[in-house]
Order: sequence, then structure tokens, then C-alpha cells
Amino acid sequence: MPTKTPSPKQRRPKTGRESSTARRARAAEIVRRLRREYPDADCALTHKSPLQLLVSTILSAQCTDDRVNKVTPALFKRYRTAAAYAKADTAELQGLIQSTGFFRNKAKSIMGAGRVLTERFGGKVPDTMDELLELPGVARKTANVVLGTAFGKNEGVVVDTHIGRLAQRLRLTWRSRDDKDAVKIERDLMEVLPREEWTMMGHALIWHGRRVCSARKPNCDGCTLADLCPSAFAMDSQVNAGKKTPQKKRRPR
Ligand code: SF4
Repeated sequence: MPTKTPSPKQRRPKTGRESSTARRARAAEIVRRLRREYPDADCALTHKSPLQLLVSTILSAQCTDDRVNKVTPALFKRYRTAAAYAKADTAELQGLIQSTGFFRNKAKSIMGAGRVLTERFGGKVPDTMDELLELPGVARKTANVVLGTAFGKNEGVVVDTHIGRLAQRLRLTWRSRDDKDAVKIERDLMEVLPREEWTMMGHALIWHGRRVCSARKPNCDGCTLADLCPSAFAMDSQVNAGKKTPQKKRRPR
């Protein structure tokens, strides 16, 4: 008798008791497929130097990369060095970055970073995690973007909203299932992904999150990872479960 081909839903892996070896093997296959799917995956922030990338990444908090790329041409023309940011007129800088949101805090961080870069690092962006974390407004996410993209160093994995969501849906994080703690998610990703892939996977997961696995409507039907993803098609059932059963019309008495 011919055997029935299982549907993608049936092929969804069960990871309840997945061993770390099995999880690493699944992660390696996820890496392979995302590499094939997005061979050109790269940072979407337009930049020509580590300083420009640092500033763009600070601006990208709670803002889209497209919006950041719209304001940076004028910004980079006006301020060309770390010292120029350190000496910037606050109101002028705020005006240039206003449309990225949280512009007062971002201006403060950029000016502070410019000052520390000038005073402690000879105006150059440092290429170590510890030094980058000394800069105002710079946490691990920004430091990882700069280290991976500007310096080609795999020191950690960038965790933004897309990567956090995908790590959870793909169960590449386990300590923080219902947790949005980026540091815990990063730790899990570092444990399961090969180090040489950390930067590439950051870019590829962001691309996949934007194009296929969106927050509200993941396209599991068109996803190259469906048979590796424990959450595949789960949103469909959640949506269906949330649908109200149509009530029978009562007859007027
Ligand atoms: S689109 Fe669906 S199958 Fe693909 S990673 Fe997202 S939840 Fe998993």
C-alpha cells in the first residue's frame, strides 16, 4: 500500500525533550537553510565606517532601519568625527534625528559616545566588547552589531525583536521561553549556534523575520524552516481557537 506523505504540520518537530546534541544538529540545519535562502544577508543600516555604524545602531532603537537610513545622510555630512559629535549643538543634533523617535535620549547617547571616543580611544571606535560597553547608550546589542559588521568579529549574537521572536518560535532558546530577556536569549543562541555563524545568523534571522516569519502572520506555508520549527502552523490554530463560534440566531418568541 502506498504510504501517505506527511503534511508539513505533521512533520513539525517535537522538541519537548530535545537533547542539546539534537538541538545543535537542528540549529546547524537551520543555519544551512538560511544561508541558502539569504546568501546576501547583511546589515540594513547604511554606513561607511565603524563610527557611522555605531551612530546608526544607536538611532535604530525603537525605529526602523529605513527611517534611520533616511536621516543619516544629512547627519553624517554634518558630523564627520567622534569629536564633532562630542561638540555638537544639542538642539541641532536633536533636530536632525527627531524623526527616529526618543531623539533626546539618542542625542545624549551619541554626544556622550563621541566624548568617550575622543577622550579615551583617540576618536576611534574600539573593537572589543568591554571597551564598546563603556560608551554611553551602548549595550550588547549595539556592540554586537559593530563588532560583527564593522570588524568581522563574532563576539556575540545580536538580539533584536525579530531575532528574539524567531529564537523562541524555533526553540533555539529555552531558558527564557516566555521571557524577553535579550541577554538570556543571546546566551542560548551562543550555546547552540556555531561561533563562526553568529554574525551571519543575526542578519539572516532578521531578514527571515521581516520577510517570512512576521510577528502577527508568519507564513509557515512558504517557510523553508517549517519541518525544523516546533511552532510551525501553531499560530493558525491560535487564530482559529480565538475565532468566535457563530451564535445561532434566536427565534423571536
Ligand atoms: S514562519 Fe512558521 S515555520 Fe517558519 S520559522 Fe516562523 S513559525 Fe516557524
